[in-house]
Amino acid sequence: MTTKAGVSDNKINWSIIQQHQKTRVANSNHLNTTERKQLLEVLRLMLMENESELLTALYKDLGKTPEEAYTSELAVLLQEIDFMKRRLNNWQRPKHKRHIKLGSMSKTTFEHRPYGSILVISPWNYPLQLALMPVIGALAAGNSCFIKPSEFAPETAKILAKLIRAYFSPDVLMVVNGDDTVATELLELPWDFIFFTGSKKVGTIVHGAAAKKQIPVVLELGGKNPCIVDETNLTEAVVQRIVWGKFLNAGQSCIAPDTVYVHQTIYPQFLQMAVEQIKQFYGLHPLEEETIGRMAHEKQFEKIVDFLKQGTIYYGGKVDATHKRVEPTLLTDITARSPILYEEIFGPILPVIPYTNLSKLVNELKRMDDPLVTYIFSKNKRSIAYVKTKLRSGAFSLNQVILHAVSSDNSFGGIGASGFGRYHGSASLDTFSYERTVYTYLLPFNIQKQYPPYQSNDLNLLRKWRRWLF
Ligand code: NAD
Repeated sequence: MTTKAGVSDNKINWSIIQQHQKTRVANSNHLNTTERKQLLEVLRLMLMENESELLTALYKDLGKTPEEAYTSELAVLLQEIDFMKRRLNNWQRPKHKRHIKLGSMSKTTFEHRPYGSILVISPWNYPLQLALMPVIGALAAGNSCFIKPSEFAPETAKILAKLIRAYFSPDVLMVVNGDDTVATELLELPWDFIFFTGSKKVGTIVHGAAAKKQIPVVLELGGKNPCIVDETNLTEAVVQRIVWGKFLNAGQSCIAPDTVYVHQTIYPQFLQMAVEQIKQFYGLHPLEEETIGRMAHEKQFEKIVDFLKQGTIYYGGKVDATHKRVEPTLLTDITARSPILYEEIFGPILPVIPYTNLSKLVNELKRMDDPLVTYIFSKNKRSIAYVKTKLRSGAFSLNQVILHAVSSDNSFGGIGASGFGRYHGSASLDTFSYERTVYTYLLPFNIQKQYPPYQSNDLNLLRKWRRWLF
């Protein structure tokens, strides 16, 4: 890891490497996708050939089981690489348009051009997926990248640096490990684009640093995703989906259903079914049997332990401070104005709150920050349409959790406090490139009416022929 003392020396090296990255991108043929597909293939090989080392690192950092780590980290990345390789040629092909108008006989070509050297700053909760997912889009669109992984998933950060060094030249990909001091120094370099995933607090710092140099930026932040279950759709499958989505990665998913709002008439039944589901998924002793992952760091663990005190523990609630593990917990009767009601939980606690009136609930949710996603489980078309219209969120998911974010066919991103910009699949290709308009004027002579001095009737003529001017 880079130490605080060594940062400034490193900055000179980073600056040189960044210059090489910019030169590589500038000198490459932007219309040719062969090299980019080769780079994606190298990334695919890197993941496949080192699968067990990567899964071990994810276990050491977050206690993820190999199955969970494979599906939520490696498999998602491999799918995205396959998607890019399939779609890249078609996406990159320039789009042409011809204009035959009085004032401009021309043809225009729209080309996707890469930005250059991109800084990707990633968090610890899906340390592999969230470091590499933006990189796949960035490489596919023709860029080079620096990755600054989170210091709170150190094993993954270490192996990522080792593998990227072994498989890629630094003028394509480079990993810089370190803490916030390192990130701050990195932000001082003249990036062509910054892609940040993390907290709202740090996102605001990154946004400010980017604005000073007019650097385009995407912010993928967090939020409190509401999950509404109405009286029309309570089934075992529904409860299974919610419990899985909540406790996946020990609740540390930015798109986890944060709090579930259950219609009063099915509230006791929902709680009972959720308890049964937790037992089925994680057994009776999840702490001893290690069927659930752990908190990434002490501060996170303490925050979750504190949240446990802000309501009645309906089920779970035991903690293991040595290994920073918390049982999957259902919390009811939340104390009024408790922080758990408005702060992102990001841990294995599911507050279950009854409601009687949907419009009253929606009005309360409207007063909160815009989340990444709004979930609703319902068969009532009017209720679904009402919630979809009234609540703002990056995504809206009906009768399922999490899965909207794992397919490369769907774009992903937030709104308001949960961030801005989109990525995954085609959205990544658009995000990591800019569209350059290439305009060619075809008339060899000038239409004199276009130029001064103007005659008294010219304004009338211009009004009349406006549609045909250009
Ligand atoms: P964080 O903001 O603390 O850290 C994210 C990254 O920023 C880390 O690499 C960190 O080293 C770096 N960083 C820290 N201080 C910095 C500074 N001053 N300048 C620049 N970079 C700095 O976030 P976290 O705790 O790692 O992640 C949890 C948060 O991320 C949650 O809020 C969660 O919802 C959010 N998140 C969002 C998404 C998404 O896709 N929208 C995905 C995962 C996590």
